[in-house]
Amino acid sequence: MTATFRGQVTLDGPSGTGKSTVARGVAARLGASYLDTGAMYRAATVAVLDAGVDPEDADAVERTVAAARIEVGTEAGTELVLVDGVDVATRIRGAEVTRNVSAVSAVPAVRRQLVDQQRALVAAADAVVVEGRDIGTVVLPRATLKVYLTAAPEVRAERRAGQLGITDPAEIAALAADLRRRDEYDSSRADSPLRPAEDAVVVDSTELDQQGVIERILELAAVGAGERA
Ligand code: C5P
Repeated sequence: MTATFRGQVTLDGPSGTGKSTVARGVAARLGASYLDTGAMYRAATVAVLDAGVDPEDADAVERTVAAARIEVGTEAGTELVLVDGVDVATRIRGAEVTRNVSAVSAVPAVRRQLVDQQRALVAAADAVVVEGRDIGTVVLPRATLKVYLTAAPEVRAERRAGQLGITDPAEIAALAADLRRRDEYDSSRADSPLRPAEDAVVVDSTELDQQGVIERILELAAVGAGERA
């Protein structure tokens, strides 16, 4: 690649598309910062669960998250996630958090708080790759390059199973059901639903491996950089 990338790449899409691996890979190759906004909603969910608050009780969720200090790192090579100074990087990937994160992230005040934080982190970086669900549509509508990553649902469930080392067909079916439930919740919520931005490039990873997806996004970023030069 000739041009040095400056600007923001947004990477949105449903769960299980390999978005995180791709986003980290693209950030590393571009020498850019990396922001995992899903980790922030997951950290907020840890705060809610630890406070003993019902994730469906929007008012209590709002108050709890407003009082919590959520910090995430922006380096592609490390995962730093803190709630009130406590490292929760492992816990946020657990089943309890995964089950409850969609309810917490559907609360508008939680979104406003975390979106403000996301924009401040992005503003501090010359080049950044940001992954989530609403980055191209809501958080960074003027981003340099917007990518929406999809894959067939059964392929997404199998990939997730592979990551978790699950081979039992019944467990894979349960994973597929959980992915569908989260997609449905995230796509139908009133505030910032999951959908591609009008100016996003849709990349379907059903037939592409992760390296292929990374190369495709780097090509798109290089073309954009050429156009801007
Ligand atoms: O990307 P990840 O699976 O870690 O995201 C967890 C959850 O956080 C999603 O299912 C979604 O409910 C929420 N989320 C969101 N907006 C984002 C990122 C994640 O609502 N920008």
